[in-house]
Amino acid sequence: MTERDSHQSADQKASSEESPRGLAALRAWRLGMPRLGLLQPSSEPSPRTDIGVVSPRSQPPAKPQPRDSQRVRVYRAETPLKGRELKTIEQCEDFCESVVGTLWWLNRFPELGLERIPHLRDGRGARQAFYREDPGHPTITLPRRYRTVNVILHELAHWTMHADHDLPNHGYTFTRVFMDLTAEFCGPAARELLAAAYAEHKVHIGAEAVLGPDGIYRYGNDERIRLGRDRLLVIDLIESESPVSGVIVRATKKQITLLLQDKQLDDERHLSIPLGSIWRVRGAQ
Ligand SMILES: [Zn+2]
Repeated sequence: MTERDSHQSADQKASSEESPRGLAALRAWRLGMPRLGLLQPSSEPSPRTDIGVVSPRSQPPAKPQPRDSQRVRVYRAETPLKGRELKTIEQCEDFCESVVGTLWWLNRFPELGLERIPHLRDGRGARQAFYREDPGHPTITLPRRYRTVNVILHELAHWTMHADHDLPNHGYTFTRVFMDLTAEFCGPAARELLAAAYAEHKVHIGAEAVLGPDGIYRYGNDERIRLGRDRLLVIDLIESESPVSGVIVRATKKQITLLLQDKQLDDERHLSIPLGSIWRVRGAQ
């Protein structure tokens, strides 16, 4: 998605001089409207993915989002697992609220409360269910045949990662979040079916969420470390109040070695950190 950004201004400058449509597109873009919506009246995403066109971000990510390399395998694994069916959008809304309103959810995604819950769209004419960040509010589109608890939890899992532009859409963190949602809201039998389907299709699952000193469970530390070889990361440690930032130069199953961004320790530029002492890993802004 981000590759469009680099070409956007030049292309639009050229077209706006001669075509009113280009000018309108530029104006709409500045107002924060979804760009492809102008060219493509159907708001449906590409059938290749269930993530919709994301509206322009206020701050473009420093690096492009990593390739979504296990997306097709995730779809193949999950599609046969129907789950409980819900008939109406109102029933789907009730289910979403019953998930987002729990203490389990609050302990993992405290910023995503009921007041920010995605609006559900009935998806008439849409070929698939999808999550999208519409200006001002996220939406989940649910055509009738996709109104199942499994599909809704899959799309809610995308919502939980809406700010994680440094992680793939269906990467290790996504599958871990979806697996935990399935266990919590569909029960252990559904979780086992999903785990078996993921194993059959060779889908990777991220590490368990890590409990921070603030009482919040966080996902994605392991995937950020795995993908973070050339990225500047900010790492919070259990026994230290101030985070350290640097680039990973070595990672083993037990520890990582960080090349520190600033000289944070007297003479050392490298810091070895046992994985067990890390409670949060963030991409540097
Ligand atoms: Zn998806």
